[in-house]
Formats: sequence, C-alpha cells, structure tokens
Amino acid sequence: MESSSDVSTVEGNGSALESEAGSTGSVKLEGVTKKFGAFKAVDDIDLEIANGEFFTMLGPSGCGKTTTLRMIAGFEQPTEGKVKIDGVDVAGEPPYKRPTNTVFQSYALFPHMTLEENVGFGLKRKKVSKDEIKKRVADELERVGLANEAKRKPAQLSGGQQQRVALARALVNLPKVLLLDEPLGALDLKLRKALQVELKNIQRDVGITFVYVTHDQEEALTMSDRIAVMDQGRIEQCAGPEQVYERPATTFVAGFIGVSNLMPAVATGGNDVKLDNGPTVTSPDASAFSSGERCYAVVRPEKLDVTTDAAPPDRPSVEGVVEASLFLGTATQMAVRIANDVKITVLVPNASESERQALPGGGSRVHVSWEPQHTHLVTESPSGSGPPEQSEATSSEHPREGEKA
Ligand code: ATP
Repeated sequence: MESSSDVSTVEGNGSALESEAGSTGSVKLEGVTKKFGAFKAVDDIDLEIANGEFFTMLGPSGCGKTTTLRMIAGFEQPTEGKVKIDGVDVAGEPPYKRPTNTVFQSYALFPHMTLEENVGFGLKRKKVSKDEIKKRVADELERVGLANEAKRKPAQLSGGQQQRVALARALVNLPKVLLLDEPLGALDLKLRKALQVELKNIQRDVGITFVYVTHDQEEALTMSDRIAVMDQGRIEQCAGPEQVYERPATTFVAGFIGVSNLMPAVATGGNDVKLDNGPTVTSPDASAFSSGERCYAVVRPEKLDVTTDAAPPDRPSVEGVVEASLFLGTATQMAVRIANDVKITVLVPNASESERQALPGGGSRVHVSWEPQHTHLVTESPSGSGPPEQSEATSSEHPREGEKA
C-alpha cells in the first residue's frame, strides 16, 4: 500500500506554490537542524541550490542526507532553521503544497493501474481536464521512453522501467524542484549506469532543479553540477565534482570520494610540507597552514608511479613494500605499505600486457613517486571522522518504512 507521504508525492504540487511548465526553483537552507529526541541527524546546515542545478547530497549511510531531503519535501519539519523554496519560507507547508515532487528508491506505483493511469493519477485528483491529462501523460511517457508501454501494468515492467514511470509521474506535476532519494539504488550496476546518463539528459531537457541523494560517489561525480559531501549531519565540502575529487577539503572527503592516499605531514613554512614518511614536498595548499601545523598530503592512486629503481630527483617519492596486486581489468591496483603502517593504493592502467607483467610483485621493495603538482593537502575532518573504509562508502541502503509500494 502507498503510505500517506507517498500519496502526497503522487498528488504533486498544490495550489499555494503551483508551478507552470518549464518553471524551476531555487532551494535555500538556513541553519537547519533536525533532532530525533536528543540525537542530531542534521546539524546546522546552510545550503543554497540554484535554479536548474543538478545538486547531489552524498555521504555514508546515516549521515543525514535523506532527512535533509525530507525537510525540503515537507515530510519532516526542521527542529531549527528555515527551508526556503524560491525565496519563500515553506515552514509548516505539507508536501502536497510545495512545488516539489519526490522520487523514491522504491517506485511506489499502483499495481492495479496501467502506466498512463499511474502517471495521470495526480492530475486526475486535481481535476485537470481529460484532454490535458492525456497530452501531459503522453509527453512524459515519451520523455522517459515508455510511450509504447502506456497500457501495461507495473508488474509487466523491469525495475528500470518502473523507475522511469515513477519519474514521469513526478515530472507530470510540473514541480519546480524534483527530489530524488537514491532512485537508482535498487537497480543492478549496468542499468544504474545507463539510467544515470538518461536521468542527466532528462534533467537537461526539463531544465528544473534536481536535488539528488546517493551514497554512491561515482554516481554523484557523473551526474552532478555540485555535490555536498556529508558526514554526521554536517556538510564537509560543497563544490563541483572535479573540485571535490581533485581538491578535497578534509580527510573524510578525500576518503569518501575515491580511494584515499593520506600521508601524514607537517607544514614547515611557505609552500613546503615535510611528509612523516618521506621528503619535504612543495604544495600551493601549504600556505593555508601555519608552520608546525599537522596536515595530510593526498595523492590520487592514478597519479602515482611504482618502480623498483629510485625515482628521478625532481619527483617526490616514498619507499615501501608491495603488499598486494589486484587485476581490475582496465587497471591493476597495487597496495604498497610505507613506513609508520601507512598504506598507499596505486592504480596502473593496463595499457600493455608486457608492462603489466613487468610490474613489481608482492613483497617487492619499491619507490612510489608522483608529479609535484599532484600533492594536495587536507585537514583532519572537523567531525573527527577519518577516511571511511571503501566498504562503508558502498554500503547498501535501508529503505524507510512507509516508502515502499
Ligand atoms: P541512508 O542512506 O541509510 O538512508 P542517510 O544519510 O539518508 O542514510 P538519514 O536517513 O537522514 O541518513 O538518517 C540520519 C540519522 O537519523 C540516522 O542515524 C537515522 O537512524 C536517524 N533517523 C532518521 N529518521 C529517524 C526517525 N524518524 N527517528 C529517529 N531517528 C531517525
């Protein structure tokens, strides 16, 4: 059965903030906190999402991203702070009166209705004329590539097709802001990748603001204009995909977005930092640290080279021992342990079979080096979280009660 909250999303936007075709909205959170009892699920968040932006909230399970989305949708009310949509404070407005619609991971379709009935359900409830419903439903089914399946029932569709219907059902209500809560989480990897591209194209086509929740860093990097990386109810960094990957702000972000190679270091003044396990290296980021301040040097795995010979003197390098080597198809991933029990991951593209065969094997003593400009410095996360284990970053969801079809 549909929960009451799901029915609200099916009904779509209500009269107070009703939007017109093609209109899009901005979202602003001002000092938003959400407490469940004494527990702070969302902790004093400020956020501005622009008109027409594809904005993603990314973080591990329990970091507060869904709760934040639910406050924008109106399923939860903030304990403190304001939620504004297009500059209007929506405090107290129920979901169906907000110019938003939500697409959940569970498709929440009515099983006894055809696709076109499912998509047109909200418009029928709003007493939109039959002709208009017919046209709008046909347009949306066309947009999501299901025009030929309009008379089918949900059970006759694949998971990916059902999620497209859920998307059409949300878009037909002309929301200014579409909220998507792990919409691809229940699909297999191949389908998820295909739908990521499709969703991004649909967002460009409709031109409205998408606020997307995922724990999948690759998904976030592929689709988003900007990403808010969250941990423990707070935003650790909010920036474009390239920036969060290439210039993570904290140890947590460095570890959550991609594989973390964190080498402890100390700033020594000017542009220099001394790696605990290696040489003094230069980084433009160093000027943000005062002399003597602790930090971490981050170098992404694909920027590293492994050799048994010493590295050229113009390249920073550290020494270590190869612990494991993993063939990943397109690349070989090597784990190298350097001094002080620090583990470094190196990704070597499998460009040629002979080069791959020549890579140093387990137990080899090696030099890991990189171009000086690839040294980036980060601070310890304010939340105190270290970099998450990769398994946490890809942990499975916990669908909320009442959001299932
Ligand atoms: P997931 O990906 O697992 O859904 P999330 O980042 O979306 O994680 P939230 O669902 O926002 O996280 O939950 C944040 C924290 O708030 C979690 O610790 C969760 O257990 C808690 N929480 C969420 N909803 C409630 C509720 N209704 N009552 C009590 N605690 C809640």
